[in-house]
Amino acid sequence: MPRHSQLTKMATLMNPKWNGQFSCFDLVAKTDANKRTRTLVQVRDIEIGGSDFVVMAGPCAVESEDQLLRTAEAVAAAGARMLRGGAYKPRSSPYAFQGLGVEGLKLLRKAREATGLAIVTEVMSEEDVELIAEYADVMQVGTRSMENYALLEKLGGCGRPVLLKRGMTATLEELLRSAQVIAMAGNPQIILCERGIRTFETATRNTLDIAAVPVLKTVSHLPVIVDPSHAAGIRCLVPALARAAAVVGADGLLVEVHPHPEAALSDGNQSLNFGEFREMMDDLQPYLEIQQAARQFRPRLVAVGGTD
Ligand code: PEP
Ligand code: MN
Repeated sequence: MPRHSQLTKMATLMNPKWNGQFSCFDLVAKTDANKRTRTLVQVRDIEIGGSDFVVMAGPCAVESEDQLLRTAEAVAAAGARMLRGGAYKPRSSPYAFQGLGVEGLKLLRKAREATGLAIVTEVMSEEDVELIAEYADVMQVGTRSMENYALLEKLGGCGRPVLLKRGMTATLEELLRSAQVIAMAGNPQIILCERGIRTFETATRNTLDIAAVPVLKTVSHLPVIVDPSHAAGIRCLVPALARAAAVVGADGLLVEVHPHPEAALSDGNQSLNFGEFREMMDDLQPYLEIQQAARQFRPRLVAVGGTD
């Protein structure tokens, strides 16, 4: 019988299906050969995957200088460390706003200069990787691109950390395989993002798979963040899902915020206004304390069932 590491045993205890499947994502998994317990993703002066809970916030799409700069200032004042805004938008309808392109990237750079926030923005095509890497601190791969292997491979050499969103119909194993493609292509700085998956439920835009966080944190050494905005699809649910993410041990959040959500060119229904975002951040504090305590307890709790 093969000798499993304690980490493999932990995963086995969670679900036998995970046993022995690490070979297809060994660079991003906790395995015998790869004993790292966590990867710290360094973005300017921010460390993701360490002791800080890092909130990335901003509009779904960069729409104008005024909209972006006001949002950047508001989210920074409320405690966000990174500004997230799309300049190239993957939209389900070809008639919807597709983003400002390079103009949007320039505005993101301006917002970073004004506030010091690091920039996260989406890249949809391998052809845009070099250009976007000149402006972005973190390259976001959206749910629709998780299996775009040409893009993933190109991101292996982009010199920037990658925020990899889970495909809306992808299993966690498939997510980890995509992370492996980026790591194999030379870039180990990857942040995984649970953003809700498609299920039969229609009350929310997607179903937040909250179990994805502890599963991914057990089998992988990569940081894991949660996007409650795209999971909920409805603004009023975002704070509750954010709190859930904090207590299950996520390393941070990605939250959509807009000065006037009702007038947003995309994803207004799920965007918080400035006051709502501030309130969400304040309300998160006690939950973050629980998370810190949970982090300290986790190894012992796992070991109770995981070792003999
Ligand atoms: C977004 O982050 O605005 C976005 C389009 O997200 P997703 O790829 O998760 O749908
Ligand atoms: Mn969006």
